[in-house]
Amino acid sequence: EANERESMYLVSEFAQKHFEKMLWETELGKAIGLSYFKERGFTQETIQKFGLGYCLDEWDGFTKTALDKGYKLNYLEKTGLTIVKENPQNPNDPRKFDRFKGRVMFPIHSMSGRVLGFGGRILKTDKKAAKYQNSPESDIYHKSKVLYGIYYAKQAIAKEDNCFLVEGYTDVIQFVQRGIENVVSSSGTALTSEQIRLINRLTKNITVLFDGDAAGLRASLRGIDLILEQGMNVKVCTFPEGEDPDSFAKNNELEEIQQYLKENSKDFIQFKAHILAKESANDPIKRAETVRDIVQSISKIPDGIKREIYVQECAGIMNVSESVLFSTLAQMGKKDR
Ligand code: ATP
Ligand code: MN
Ligand code: MN
Ligand code: MN
Repeated sequence: EANERESMYLVSEFAQKHFEKMLWETELGKAIGLSYFKERGFTQETIQKFGLGYCLDEWDGFTKTALDKGYKLNYLEKTGLTIVKENPQNPNDPRKFDRFKGRVMFPIHSMSGRVLGFGGRILKTDKKAAKYQNSPESDIYHKSKVLYGIYYAKQAIAKEDNCFLVEGYTDVIQFVQRGIENVVSSSGTALTSEQIRLINRLTKNITVLFDGDAAGLRASLRGIDLILEQGMNVKVCTFPEGEDPDSFAKNNELEEIQQYLKENSKDFIQFKAHILAKESANDPIKRAETVRDIVQSISKIPDGIKREIYVQECAGIMNVSESVLFSTLAQMGKKDR
């Protein structure tokens, strides 16, 4: 219902301002949260631009403040800001906990700049708790339809006619701070068609930047087919082992980053064909699988001329005949796309 959603937006906006205030105006916020962000190389201006904040390490400090200000527990719970648990001693007085207790806060904005939810990062990674905690799915926060950073990036994406897609919050922030503003993140969740559609309205060109940890890379390749399906041009770029766009941007100047991106961005289909060719070099059965795999990706491309060009290129890269690829493509047909 529209009124309920509006109430959820309002409480989220209040929370964003509250966490920001805790970061800048409390001793603990400054000593813990602010110094954490500064340690990561974020400037004051950047921290303010992204509305970063800190949730004090108290059980219900935020929740109490919000209730005092008249925000309803119902909406605090629906947005996931407060976790409400039954109180066995008194059913009329449920227990309330701040979801983001002791975390630095990354507000997540809609395309038009409204606060939809948060990512919260734990400071001490030795704890068993998850490194990042995100707002739960709600009537205003649909993970699959949101891209972190899109509000700040939309103009630059259109202007540059390209969008960099990175893995995490800090990758976005560090890039923007360095002056590369056409960047968004799916923030750890698998890429969806809805997220790609948001970008597709602004540009037909995406460059996917992978962390240099390889673990995620192989698994992410299939997700990229969703981008091809929308008729977009996809490039991919990997970072050196142990680096991600955040650390790379922190340790290099703008010109070096731009040069690295230019030299290492590869056409996605070619990149994938090379990986698959290597994987199956001496194994005919594996080779058959990888041929099907690359053809499956090619089959997603709506433009028949592009498909044909890729078939020719991939035949060369994977050292199989074009006719094998063409017939596999024909077999797959439209129904399996
Ligand atoms: P940092 O540099 O702060 O350690 P990162 O952004 O490099 O974090 P990655 O481990 O590369 O983190 O993960 C990429 C993204 O995936 C994160 O920014 C976050 O959005 C999401 N993510 C990572 N770990 C978790 C987790 N335990 N729970 C939920 N989301 C997570
Ligand atoms: Mn990663
Ligand atoms: Mn990372
Ligand atoms: Mn990182």
